[in-house]
Amino acid sequence: MKNVTENNRVVSLIYHDVVEREVHHLSGFPSADAALYKLDPELFRQHIDTIARTVSGLPVLVTELAATNNALSGTPWMITFDDGGASFHTRIADLLENQGWRAHFFVATDYIGKPGFMSPEQIRDLRHRGHIIGSHSCSHPLRFASRPWNEMEREWSESTSVLSELLEEPVRIASLPGGQYSKQVAQTAAAAGIKVLFTSEPTTRTTEVEGCLVLGRYSIQRWMSPAVAAAIASGRFAPRFRQLVWWEFKKFSKTVGGNFYLRAREKWMNELNRNPVK
Ligand SMILES: [Zn+2]
Repeated sequence: MKNVTENNRVVSLIYHDVVEREVHHLSGFPSADAALYKLDPELFRQHIDTIARTVSGLPVLVTELAATNNALSGTPWMITFDDGGASFHTRIADLLENQGWRAHFFVATDYIGKPGFMSPEQIRDLRHRGHIIGSHSCSHPLRFASRPWNEMEREWSESTSVLSELLEEPVRIASLPGGQYSKQVAQTAAAAGIKVLFTSEPTTRTTEVEGCLVLGRYSIQRWMSPAVAAAIASGRFAPRFRQLVWWEFKKFSKTVGGNFYLRAREKWMNELNRNPVK
């Protein structure tokens, strides 16, 4: 595989919606679980300001990695948003553009135009403003890797054709909903013609599966401080390592038993609420 960066590493952040906590259902998926990933507008503004002050260089777009013949130097960083909530257009894009940033916006296509989600016009507008639009599957299955092969492939191929038609250009970039990843997830994406797949595996390492570039990402939740987001974006090891340990623990405990995982998560969330990560 051609090196995408000097060391084949990229740091990517995943955000979701930006909406006030009391009305979180107005953008994106309305569940309490989804709300954990939605940031209050003031907090999001602080995240952006802190990252801009701390991290050197603008965020890159994955198309820039692919377009350059010379690998980008150092460890570039990228910013991504999952689900396709209305706040991508009404709140987020302006704040990013004020910094001169462009982002990757991933859309679950079955929800386009539904309450709380972007309309086709809003998606087109973001693209015209220079952002990347990608697929986040059609129906947003939470346990994606557990689905049969045909279903996974259909989720990728139908969602990318909906977006390609809407934008009148080929859409070959996607992000995995729900976070459950396996090699088959990337193989089905590759079979559906996807060239870049963002997962939720907390890693900076890039790999290639049957011609599809696979990139990990670090999830930002509503309790995370701007300083932590900036530390992750600048590639610092400690906050990334903490996220990796927690991620592996979650995977392990989901395998061992769902209830155990839920109890442990509740304990962890309470702990964090008492002692927010600085
Ligand atoms: Zn999602």
